[in-house]
Amino acid sequence: QPQQCANPSGLIGDSSCCAYETVEKLNIDFSKKLHELVNMPFFRYFKVNLYKECPFWDNAGLCMNEDCSVERMDKEKVPEKWKNSHHDLGKVSIPANPLFGSLPPRPLIKEQDFCVPDADADEEVYVDLKDNPERFTGYSGPSAAKVWRAIYEENCFDVAQEMTAGCHYCESERAKLKNQQQPKNNGQSHDQNILVPPEPAPMKSEKPTKKKMDDIFSRLPKDSNELQGLVQGIAQDSNGEESCLEKRVYYRLISGLHASISIHICDEWFNQTTGEWGPNLDCFISRVGVHPERLENIYFDYVVLLRAVSKISDFLTGYEFCTGDEALDKNIRTSVDELVSLVKKCPPTFDEKLLFQEQKGAVGQTRMLKNQFRNHFRNVTRIMDCVGCEKCRLWGKIQTTGLGTALKILFSYDDASLKRSADNILSRSEIVALINTFNRFSESISAIDRFGAMYQSRLEQE
Ligand code: FAD
Repeated sequence: QPQQCANPSGLIGDSSCCAYETVEKLNIDFSKKLHELVNMPFFRYFKVNLYKECPFWDNAGLCMNEDCSVERMDKEKVPEKWKNSHHDLGKVSIPANPLFGSLPPRPLIKEQDFCVPDADADEEVYVDLKDNPERFTGYSGPSAAKVWRAIYEENCFDVAQEMTAGCHYCESERAKLKNQQQPKNNGQSHDQNILVPPEPAPMKSEKPTKKKMDDIFSRLPKDSNELQGLVQGIAQDSNGEESCLEKRVYYRLISGLHASISIHICDEWFNQTTGEWGPNLDCFISRVGVHPERLENIYFDYVVLLRAVSKISDFLTGYEFCTGDEALDKNIRTSVDELVSLVKKCPPTFDEKLLFQEQKGAVGQTRMLKNQFRNHFRNVTRIMDCVGCEKCRLWGKIQTTGLGTALKILFSYDDASLKRSADNILSRSEIVALINTFNRFSESISAIDRFGAMYQSRLEQE
């Protein structure tokens, strides 16, 4: 196949000893099973808060395109069991927060979480994902670029940590930012100032003022070209010899998500001339096809998700779906068991134990690094409230929650603690997000093949 849209080959790397070709073979069976699952009500009905304020900057408002809007579903259709009890762990343990006076209390983030759960306010709605497919919406321009930029910026970790752990995270960006820092920053690092809004109780911190945010953002790249420079810098850094495995993993996860979303957009593109929906090969080539590393990063996310599903396969086997209809419960049970048996037949795809290894003479540093990694990923889930298109926000939330859930499974539990924690590990929202995210990546892998064939036949016609 021509280089432009060639499927990647060889080992995926960065803790994965799986080959790209293996993923393609595995995906033939997985795509069918996942497709079946996400069509079942348990995995279709998703609870979400689409009205949370962006905690990092003032949003200029939502995209008003019809394709950006989200259709809500009738709450009556949702089984009572899903609305309360352990099916939604996010509901429990909401502490009163005296710091914020009459503001609604924030949900408690458990130490293990890599996501910030949506606040359980009356604002939450249920959506049927079937009625709201992720596809081209027309959302683009400065708002979308700002969100992506903020997400990539989260790939910078703390300087002191870098040094002691022997890593060299984002040194050039750090140096630039350090030079530009105002005295009022009190020497705090960039991420503490920009993208960490008040943590939930008991942490005390101030919400950054608009002026402070404007000031900080005025120093960041403004357009897509500048962003490209920043992203390339981080990518090179993350491929360079000196960068840490954890940082490369973080970058690949984000870049893979970005590339996967781009594929969904190009695969279900609205052709304004014909008024029809369909795949747009040029869109695929320019956004993903000519960037082999972006293609590779999609496979990377895939193996991470697959490993996470594999690690919780016993939990899934024992899970009670509680739809209120025994026949339906049985159907889901059968499909989930079939997914689990496919997972169990897979070769190992990703070894999470290679990350966050204790280094000699740096005891405690690894834990700090892991905390930072987790906090930064939590920020990515918060940034989703800044997405200026409702539909994109919905799918952004699902997929960052899905990836965050995978990271939680991989890095917050070892096999023994996973067994001990039994049914307290994941909420229904996390399970739904994990499976839907896995399905979206699976669809991306299938789409890469279809686009490759389209490219080939275009070449033959020329
Ligand atoms: P963008 O995709 O905005 O990328 C900006 C820059 O980032 C590029 O110029 C490039 O330098 C770099 N870059 C791009 N891809 C990668 C990668 N994989 N790895 C590393 N660097 C990269 N639009 C829709 O139509 N439908 C949706 O459902 C949708 N969902 C979205 C969800 C989120 C969370 C966000 C932030 C945006 C979403 N968008 C959606 C908008 C969409 O992602 C693009 O931002 C928009 O289409 C404009 O694309 P672009 O070509 O200008 O580049």
